Amino acid sequence: MTTVIDCVAIGDEIMKEIVKETEELKAKGITPGIATLLVGDDFGSKMYRGQVEKFCEEAGFNYVNENPPADATEADVIAIVEKLNADKSVSGILPLRPFPEQISDTVVINTIDVNKDIDCFHPFNMGKLALGEATFPPATPAAVIEILERYARNEEKVDPKDFFEGAEIVVVGHSNIVGKPVAFLALNRNATTSVTHVFTSMKGNLEKHTTGADILIVAAGKPDLIGPEQVKDGAIVIDVGINRVKVVDDKGEPVLNEKGKQKTKTVGDVSFDAVKDKTKAISPVPKGVGSVTNRMLMKNALRACKINNGLI
Ligand code: NAD
Repeated sequence: MTTVIDCVAIGDEIMKEIVKETEELKAKGITPGIATLLVGDDFGSKMYRGQVEKFCEEAGFNYVNENPPADATEADVIAIVEKLNADKSVSGILPLRPFPEQISDTVVINTIDVNKDIDCFHPFNMGKLALGEATFPPATPAAVIEILERYARNEEKVDPKDFFEGAEIVVVGHSNIVGKPVAFLALNRNATTSVTHVFTSMKGNLEKHTTGADILIVAAGKPDLIGPEQVKDGAIVIDVGINRVKVVDDKGEPVLNEKGKQKTKTVGDVSFDAVKDKTKAISPVPKGVGSVTNRMLMKNALRACKINNGLI
């Protein structure tokens, strides 16, 4: 029997833990807080900012919205980061990218206080992650690991330590924000970890690796990249991909919405219906890893709050 991992329930459970910890901190007169920094009005970043603001409200965090105009200079943005670094009501700073071209990502990120870098963008924190001493594991990779740890404990009734040690984990995707950091987090738990990517596919070697995986983590941004032939019987599959695709009928014809426009839907990188029954457990899309990602960011903000107040 396949377990479809209930990531929404995991996200809700983590939120309850965050609310409880926040109340404990508030009883000591300390309130955690997140500041978002959006330069201009990129649509995707605004959507993400809205989610962060909503979760801050739900958890009882301070929320600070910094939104200089798209023509702000790099010096203007650096001045905002320095102000946030000094602001005691802000535990964590989240830069929302892309920045306009006159502003260097690297310069802004290197200005963020390393103890307020809650999505692990700063090279210092990435270095600590590689050394196995992550202070702030980045939100999406941390969500993948958290889902697997809670699955191990709650469904397989095993200690997450034993679950990871020696497990054959294959990651598809080697980006700096998902593939590489999730591979480090798995390796730091003593899993036998392989990382595959577009060049693995170009050499025709993807299936050779993925079919050896006890745990397959897919973060490529390619719908239907992983079908049943790429998955070992009884594997655990975590699908990080988020893709908008056109809805078509049985004949492959476009399905239109009530306004006569092409209907679309969100899918992952794994052909869920075709792969599901081959797996021991699988995370869905939508309502998958994304349901846990923001919560991990908030956990990092809590941690930052404790560090910045000398509690840990
Ligand atoms: P990216 O474009 O930066 O990296 C994609 C990676 O996939 C690269 O390493 C590339 O080599 C690899 N890849 C591309 N085509 C491939 C192929 N044919 N075979 C094997 N590997 C291939 O993307 P990203 O930022 O790492 O995001 C990956 C996916 O995860 C996207 O769909 C993104 O929307 C999604 N995502 C989800 C969350 C979440 O919270 N659920 C968060 C961040 C990203």
